[in-house]
Amino acid sequence: MADVQNFDHDVLVIGAGGAGLRAAIEAASKGVSVGLVCKSLLGKAHTVMAEGGVAAAMGNVDDRDNWRVHFTDTLRGGQYLNNWRMAELHAKESPDRVRELEAWGALFDRTPDGRILQRNFGGHRYPRLAHVGDRTGLEMIRTLQDHGVHQGIDVHMEVTVVTLFVSQGRAVGALAYDRERGRFRLFRAKAIVIATGGIGRAYKITSNSWEYTGDGQSLAYHAGAALMDMEFVQFHPTGMIWPPSVRGILVTEAVRGEGGVLKNKEGRRFMFDDIPENYRAQTADTPEEGWRYVLGDKNARRPPELLTRDHVARCIMREVRAGRGSPHGGVFLDIAWIKEKIPKAAEHIKKKLPSMYHQFKQMADIDITTTPMEIGPTTHYVMGGVRVDGDTQMSTLPGLFAAGEAAAGLHGANRLGGNSLSDLLVFGKRAGESAAGFAAQHGAVAPDAGEVTEAMKDALAPFERTTGENPYAVQHDLQNLMQEMAGIVRTESDLLRAAEGLVKLRERAAGVGVSGNREYNPGWHTALDLRHLLTVSEAIVASALARKESRGGHFRDDYPEKKPEFGGSNFVAGKDPAGRLALRSVPIPPMPDELTKLVEEFK
Ligand SMILES: Cc1cc2nc3c(=O)[nH]c(=O)nc-3n(C[C@H](O)[C@H](O)[C@H](O)COP(=O)(O)OP(=O)(O)OC[C@H]3O[C@@H](n4cnc5c(N)ncnc54)[C@H](O)[C@@H]3O)c2cc1C
Repeated sequence: MADVQNFDHDVLVIGAGGAGLRAAIEAASKGVSVGLVCKSLLGKAHTVMAEGGVAAAMGNVDDRDNWRVHFTDTLRGGQYLNNWRMAELHAKESPDRVRELEAWGALFDRTPDGRILQRNFGGHRYPRLAHVGDRTGLEMIRTLQDHGVHQGIDVHMEVTVVTLFVSQGRAVGALAYDRERGRFRLFRAKAIVIATGGIGRAYKITSNSWEYTGDGQSLAYHAGAALMDMEFVQFHPTGMIWPPSVRGILVTEAVRGEGGVLKNKEGRRFMFDDIPENYRAQTADTPEEGWRYVLGDKNARRPPELLTRDHVARCIMREVRAGRGSPHGGVFLDIAWIKEKIPKAAEHIKKKLPSMYHQFKQMADIDITTTPMEIGPTTHYVMGGVRVDGDTQMSTLPGLFAAGEAAAGLHGANRLGGNSLSDLLVFGKRAGESAAGFAAQHGAVAPDAGEVTEAMKDALAPFERTTGENPYAVQHDLQNLMQEMAGIVRTESDLLRAAEGLVKLRERAAGVGVSGNREYNPGWHTALDLRHLLTVSEAIVASALARKESRGGHFRDDYPEKKPEFGGSNFVAGKDPAGRLALRSVPIPPMPDELTKLVEEFK
């Protein structure tokens, strides 16, 4: 085929964040050839932005912690819609994955006696997050890359996959273009791992970078795999809100883990006003008790600022709607107050939260050691994604695997902070191992030549429409629509408007045109990303309409309570034979007795 370079790998990993790198390392260690593709430069994946830490029940700071507590915390946080098998494996295996990272060279912060230090985070009963200041993701990516480089992995940087190919009922290849020259690459592979991260760019206000346009979820869906839990989008409670140019940038939960408190414009710590029943027994009664928890007093319970993200975000929205918000439509997050409690507080804050200190100093001219930050919710993470088998990470399409944020299951209706980085390590490894095993048992199948030609023609179509609409205009309207109609507080009428709006946006997306040539053409890239953004948005809206209750990250103003009839099943989205999105409710399989007992014990 003209105009296309061919590459053959046993295993193709799409995405070079924590999940993709860990999968590639594992697959390569099994002796198969591995190709690793990423949209940006190696080292720039979202994982590098992770701040607060990686959750693993090592019990270094509090010896009452163990996998059982982590497992039950994860289920409670996910409101029991989690894939319990994944939650079990994750809780059991994450300590080994963190220690392995350390053995590969990661330098974590230390306890005085030299063990990996662990910090408090929302929804985790004990201090559990191994961290490197507030730059944990950087250390993780650096370590995985350094280790991976020696495994003989072929890296394709600044290469974007646009289509997956299916033959004989399994995933067999992918078409991509390189950003620099705009030329096509055809990958043939015996197994493919999707590790493409999140969907945050479907919303206007987000902590996610330009890369997170839901490509992996959409590629898998169009290839015939199922998506699950797409209604569960996490709106992180603390994003920057001022000045407008920085709106959405994350303010790590580690600020609250280190003692930061939330206040409304009246100076009131409003988080004490509403403590959910299932967390009451674990939550401090007074600010004094909360502070003792931060200091590590084992007899104290955590402050309400460390309740789960879904709840904290909604409490902030309540204050803003009631007219008790900050001048720019958020509330105040105050870490400076700890100077009342400890000597040399400014030095302590700068040491524990160096990135936050610089972020606010440089971007908002605020010194967080003296002044409260103005913050508000920001679209941060998607709990939903490609539906996978809990042990192997294989999707419902044979030969196609998914791991990390692109996959669904572990987090249920709401993710606990720190549980993503551990997810990447545990299930990245498992996906890489399973993909290598699959590749060893299956021969290579070439994608259908006609389908490849058609996919290239389709990808280049925006160049033919020289008078077509600007893709940025469609992207802009889509982000606004999702923000306004399918955001943190949802209603039937808004979601129906979102669904109608998406139909019109899909028509407009089919007519977008780009000018110029194929070399580094961001307009063209946006035109192609739009298809993915639309697909994931449609899945989010359809699932949000179907879930007529409020649970975890999904809040319906018209159905504000949890309903038992929705408590035992996930919504699964697949493509029907006519190419339309079909949604079904799939019951969660019963948990084994020993896990059910654990849940009861730690309630
Ligand atoms: C600011 C911030 C702070 C965070 N802090 C924490 C934290 O402290 N602890 C925690 O547990 N979680 C944290 N998270 C969440 C966590 O960082 C992410 O969920 C996680 O890093 C996702 O990793 P991943 O490997 O799944 O994907 P990513 O790291 O997002 O990597 C995705 C990869 O896929 C590639 N890709 C995407 N589409 C394509 C395509 N079409 N073709 C080719 N390649 C493609 C990208 O180029 C990239 O290489 C944070 C998130 C943010 C934004």
